[in-house]
Parts: sequence; C-alpha cells; structure tokens
Amino acid sequence: MAKVIDSKIPAGPVPEKWKEYKAHQRLVNPKNKLKLDVIVVGTGLAGASAAASLGEMGFNVINLCIQDSPRRAHSIAAQGGINAAKCYQNDGDSIYRLFYDTVKGGDYRAREANVYRLAEVSNNIIDQCVAQGVPFAREYGGMLANRSFGGAQVSRTFYAKGQTGQQLLLGAYSSLSCQVKAGKVKLYTRYEMEDVVIVDGRARGIIAKNLVSGKLERFSANAVVIATGGYGNTYFLSTNAMGCNCTAAVQCYRKGAYFANPSYVQIHPTCIPVHGDKQSKLTLMSESLRNDGRIWVPKKLEDAKALQAGTKQGWEIPEEDRDYYLERRYPAFGNLVPRDVASRAAKERCDKGYGVNNTGLAVFLDFSESINRLGLDVIMQRYGNLFEMYEEITDVFPGDVANEINGVKYYKPMMIYPAIHYTMGGIWVDYELQTTIPGLFAIGECNFSDHGANRLGASALMQGLADGYFVLPYTIQNYLADQAVWPKVSTDLPEFAEAEKKVDAELDRLLNIKGKRSVDSIHKELGHIMWEYVGMGRTAEGLKTGLKKMHELEKEFDENLFVPGTKEGLNIELDKAIHLRDFFTMGQLVAFDALSRNESCGGHFREEYQTEEGEAKRDDENYFYVGCWEYKGKGNEPELIKEPLEYEAIKVQTRNYKN
Ligand SMILES: Cc1cc2nc3c(=O)[nH]c(=O)nc-3n(C[C@H](O)[C@H](O)[C@H](O)COP(=O)(O)OP(=O)(O)OC[C@H]3O[C@@H](n4cnc5c(N)ncnc54)[C@H](O)[C@@H]3O)c2cc1C
Repeated sequence: MAKVIDSKIPAGPVPEKWKEYKAHQRLVNPKNKLKLDVIVVGTGLAGASAAASLGEMGFNVINLCIQDSPRRAHSIAAQGGINAAKCYQNDGDSIYRLFYDTVKGGDYRAREANVYRLAEVSNNIIDQCVAQGVPFAREYGGMLANRSFGGAQVSRTFYAKGQTGQQLLLGAYSSLSCQVKAGKVKLYTRYEMEDVVIVDGRARGIIAKNLVSGKLERFSANAVVIATGGYGNTYFLSTNAMGCNCTAAVQCYRKGAYFANPSYVQIHPTCIPVHGDKQSKLTLMSESLRNDGRIWVPKKLEDAKALQAGTKQGWEIPEEDRDYYLERRYPAFGNLVPRDVASRAAKERCDKGYGVNNTGLAVFLDFSESINRLGLDVIMQRYGNLFEMYEEITDVFPGDVANEINGVKYYKPMMIYPAIHYTMGGIWVDYELQTTIPGLFAIGECNFSDHGANRLGASALMQGLADGYFVLPYTIQNYLADQAVWPKVSTDLPEFAEAEKKVDAELDRLLNIKGKRSVDSIHKELGHIMWEYVGMGRTAEGLKTGLKKMHELEKEFDENLFVPGTKEGLNIELDKAIHLRDFFTMGQLVAFDALSRNESCGGHFREEYQTEEGEAKRDDENYFYVGCWEYKGKGNEPELIKEPLEYEAIKVQTRNYKN
C-alpha cells in the first residue's frame, strides 16, 4: 500500500470506542469568549442539524445553500422514514441488532466502529426530533409507531406519513432559525460554493457564487464543513432533486480530499418506470410500500408478452399464475430484502422477458392481498399520499378494484422499476468526519460514511442527523481546540484571490465555448453512458467502453457547449454547466473504482463475479478495503489508496436473506 490513512478510530472494543472518544476529546468552550467560526455548506438534514448544533454550542456559523430556503433542500424528498433502535415494538431490536443489520446490509464494506456509533446515537435522534415537535406517526395509545424497511426483521422505522424528510427538516429548520435569531448562524441562501480555499495546508474558507447577482464572494473561517448531498444526478435520470449536484465535493477532491468508494451507487427497486425519452426526473415510490405491497411478474412468458402488447392487464392474471419472485427466492425476508438484492432480482426477471409494461422494463407492486386483509382505509392511512402521488403521475389509483376472480378482489397494481437513488460513496472521512484536508469536514450523503456498499432504507436520514446533531459537534472540537490560538485568516490573502480568479476564469471559459449543444443534451448523453456501462450490471469491457465514451463526450462538452447569457445576474444554464463539468469528473471516478474492484458487493455488481444463482460474489481476500482516490489532474487516472477494513465485533460472512 503506497499511502496509509489514519482513520483515527480509538483503540478498544467496538461498543466502547465512542464513549472512550467522548471521554478523551478536547472540548473547546466557545462560550468562554473564543471567537471560532465554522462554515457549513448545505442546509439539508445534515447541514441544518450541524449548523444549528454548532450555533447552539456558541460557534459563529456561516451556513450556505443553493435553494431560496433551507426548507427546500433535497432532504424534504425523503418519504419513508428514519431508523432507530428504540425497540418500541418489543420485537427484539437493540443497538447491536441495528449495527449488525447495517453492516450486513452494506455487504461488509462499512467501517465497523463508525456503524456502531451510528446505531448508538440513533435513539437520541428520535428524542431530539420529538422534542422539536416533529409529528411522527403514533399508535392509537400515543406511542410512536414503526414500520419495517428492507434488510431488517424488526420494525424500527419511525415515520411521518410519506413525508418524513420534510417533517424532520422542518424540525432542524426551527432549531436553525433560533440560532439565526440569536445571531450565532448567518444564513446565505442562493449561494453556491465553487471552491475550498487552502491556506498552509488547512481549509480556511470557500469561494461562493451569489446565484442571484452572479458575483463571487469570499468567506473565511477556522473550519469548513460540507454537507452538500450525493452525486446520483451524474446519471441524469435519478430520483434526486433536479438541483442536486456534486460540485462542492468534486472541488474538494480536486484540492486534495480523497474520494472513497465512488462505485457504490444505490439503485432503488421501487421507482416509476422510465417512459419516453423526454423525461428529466424519475419518481421514487417509497420502500415503505414493500411492507404491504407484493412484487410480482407473470409465471408464463405468454402472459408477459400480452402485458407488453397491452392486450392483457395485471389484474386479469390470477394468483396461481403470478410469480412473487422475491418471496420465492428469499423466503426469510421476502419483499423486504435490501435494495440492491431487490433491484437485481427485478432486472433478472425483465432481462428474461417477464417485464410487464410496453418497454418490458417494469414489475408489479400489488396491494390486493393487503387491501383485502386490512381494508382500503388502513392502507390509505399508511400510504395515502404515495397512492395519490402515483395516481397523479400515472393516472392509475392503486386502491381501485379492477377485477374479481373466484371471489377474490384484484386491485390495480403499481408498476415499478429500479432507478438511481443514493450514493454510498463520497468524500473520505476519518472517525472524526475530517477529510484528508485538515480543517475540512464532510457529513451526510456527501461523505462515504457508514453504509458500506449498500445503504439500508431509512438509514440515510439517521446518518445525516447523527452526523449533524451528535457526531460532528463533538469531533470538530478536537480540531478547533488547536485553532483557538490561530486568528481567523483574512480573505485578502493571496490564496483567496488565486482561488477566486480560477473560478472566474472557469465561468469565462464555459461562457466562451459558444458551441451548439445545450447543457441538458450533453448531460442526458452522459446519463445514457452511465446507465448503460456503469449502471446495474457492470463488466470490465463495458466500463472501459464507458470511460472512453465519457472522455469523448467531455471533449464535446469542452468544445461544443452553448451557455446563453452572461456571468452577471442569474444564469441557471451557467450553474448547470458547472455542475455538468463536475459530473464528468464524477462519472469517470465511478467507472475507475468499479473497474478496479474485481468483485461484486452491494450496489456494485460486476457481472463476471456472481454465483450460479446470480447473487453478488465478494472477494474478501483482495477487496476488503475502502477504495480511496486521489485526484491527479484532468484526463489523468486518479491514484487508488486503500484503507484496510478491520472487523472485531462482527464475523464477516456471505450475506444470506433466504433463511
Ligand atoms: C425521493 C427520495 C426519498 C428518500 N427517502 C428516504 C427515506 O425515507 N429515508 C432515508 O433515510 N433516506 C431517504 N432518502 C435519502 C435522503 O433523503 C438523503 O440521503 C438525505 O436527505 C441527504 O441529506 P443531506 O443533508 O446529506 O443532503 P441534501 O438534503 O441533498 O442537502 C444538500 C444541501 O447542500 C446544498 N448544496 C449542495 N451543493 C452546494 C454548493 N455547491 N454550495 C452551497 N450549497 C450546496 C443544498 O442547497 C442543500 O442545502 C431519500 C432520497 C430520495 C431521493
């Protein structure tokens, strides 16, 4: 191994590490007149919770986001819920079990000590949010309700109808607003970070673009935290909000922060299938629907062909001719297998010709059995807004009776297919959530964090809020304790001027290409390459082809892009062009990582490495590490640095969801 990375994990048994850490860390008490400034980029659940907590602790926080309000961060899209090991259902849940499920769900590619800490603080998150007034669903008796998500055999998911992210974000936003009012947080909306400024080897500030005036501005602080979300939109079509981008993370990577496990991309099994080629967005149907919905395709190919031709409808196919393939293949977890497993199983059926819509790329998610058993009212209480959303988009209401065969009512099923949804990879961070650039921290979806090769449903909100409310506010103090003796640097330093000049030159370059193609047309083409060659099933040959095509398209971007307007004022096309420039870097990084990992694990499936039953085949002997990448300049292959994984509490084994 060329370089060794210090993950700063304390010694000792896994359950003791976090306690040990908290006992020994050096706490700064900024309320004792110390003026320590922290920049937090992002106001999603990770950023808003971190900014609010740091403000509450007495730090001076500069908090930026690209939207016009923190409440519009992508986190509001989260539907299904948030995990915690409260064991309110008395079903045998525990911190250890949540820890174990998360490590197993991540296909044994996560850092064990981090996951334990995550499981440990999960319960605090629920208490914190309840105290803020987040309206979690409750049982008739007043207890908080739970439902089940994939990869777990207990019910540990707390939820607020199908709007959990929005409600949690409103909670974080109210805490943030208190700190804004108290003068501890200064909020900058419609600002985009374009670069991180490094002074004497430490992150000392950022260059941000005022998206309304178009002006570049300098911000300096004692530390910088990025909480800027994932890179799913590299694929163009994804369930992510249109504004999601990876510019801040990629810029940190270009400045020396390692990027870890980029090939671990999550493809969510239950999204509304692609229709036509004019779409710019895919819609998620929450995983919570798999609690009561059953996934199936026809047993007979002739039925599938009739469905594809439109001469037959799903509800005309009786029970005995349906293949509930997840229940058949994975009896112990059934429809609640983890996302990577469910997505691949859907692809396998569709590849064999059993797809149920005109493109052959869809399977059914059917509520007939649960509506017959529980009644439509109960199902509507659980998923009402999701049913309505599905109807609005497809004009099909899944609660409508469509047929009756042998006295059994059949309801109109949803059609679903896997789509890009979440990115487990991200900026590499140590146990303290610090990147390889001292003073630069990364939290939430933008770090590589705790999910290994596959994230379990309802664990992203848990991780984002754990990082923001309970981990970063402690760990950052270890760094800031040393900073207390250093004054905040001036934004007049040449490092700031240099960084600003470079960003400005980039804006000019993009505007002056004056070619013929719009940002979206090139982005769409990049998305096709990503999905085709770096998507659900990858091969060495396909990845090489994908990389070649990406290089060619990037050249087209550099030579034939057309960005209308000027730098001054609002220019959304220019902002999108910057994002696309960085999606190119990201797409290539995903492909390099996927090519270097000659195994299948979690969201990374290399077709050459599968069992006879089509399951992912890991190679622990050679790939039991975090793959970290160091930037080596545009057009050059990045360098791979490995962080070996060490497991002491959990036995590494082949995942099994069958029994
Ligand atoms: C449809 C959908 C449903 C989901 N449902 C669930 C669920 O039920 N449970 C679950 O656990 N997870 C769910 N997830 C995943 C989860 O929502 C996200 O992983 C999580 O919200 C990410 O939070 P974050 O704070 O890290 O980033 P985000 O919420 O993406 O926030 C990023 C922030 O960074 C800002 N930003 C970005 N770039 C810049 C820049 N350059 N300069 C300044 N600011 C910038 C943005 O303005 C924003 O404020 C879902 C995801 C999707 C797409």
